[in-house]
Amino acid sequence: MSSQKALLDALLQDVSAQPNAIVVFDLDDTLFSTADRHLRILAEFAAAIETQNARAAGLLRAIAREQLRYAIADTAKDAGLEEKLAKDLRDFWFARFFKNPYLLEDSIIPGGPEFAGEVIARGGRSFYMTGRDEGMREGTEASLLRHGFPDPDGKAATLILKPRFDAPDFAFKNEALHRLAEMGTVVGSFENEPAHVNLFVERFPKGRHFLLETKHSGKPVAPHPSVFRIKDFQR
Ligand SMILES: [Mg+2]
Repeated sequence: MSSQKALLDALLQDVSAQPNAIVVFDLDDTLFSTADRHLRILAEFAAAIETQNARAAGLLRAIAREQLRYAIADTAKDAGLEEKLAKDLRDFWFARFFKNPYLLEDSIIPGGPEFAGEVIARGGRSFYMTGRDEGMREGTEASLLRHGFPDPDGKAATLILKPRFDAPDFAFKNEALHRLAEMGTVVGSFENEPAHVNLFVERFPKGRHFLLETKHSGKPVAPHPSVFRIKDFQR
């Protein structure tokens, strides 16, 4: 089995060899880890309930990074939170997780900024394609820049967001892939959702498509056998 470095280098060679090459990156749990965003919201909720329920606040504060689940409801359940509080937490989380100031809390998956920059250094373009919506553009751009990702100014790097928050991610990505095909040759993609990486395999069968082994929604979809698995972008 090839090393992560060999797999990533092979994609960069394709970028060098292919005129008008495009590499597509998902954001959440692909280029960015959302763990710190989750932890900040948990800490704020703990502070909000402290006076009524110090015990539950303590349970929430004790949750470590590694214990975070994809869904906040599962994190709450694992922590032993009672049902009513778990529901309040879910509402509290939902009102914050998709808001611009909270996006700045995210850390990066190691090597991502350098890799997206290397695509451009080799004459290709990096597209950030995300299920975040246009209302999150400001925080997303600020977060990309503060971590040293190529500036999504629409030239060598472009940010594609969902037009509306309530549009389903899968349908949005499926539709966006058709538009991408008209803008250049998609030589590779990076995703953390198996169902989404499979969309890329179907639409761009000649490309190299990667699944980040971070976390995903838990939908029972197996990634296509041709998909490469990596843990981050370090070479
Ligand atoms: Mg994602």
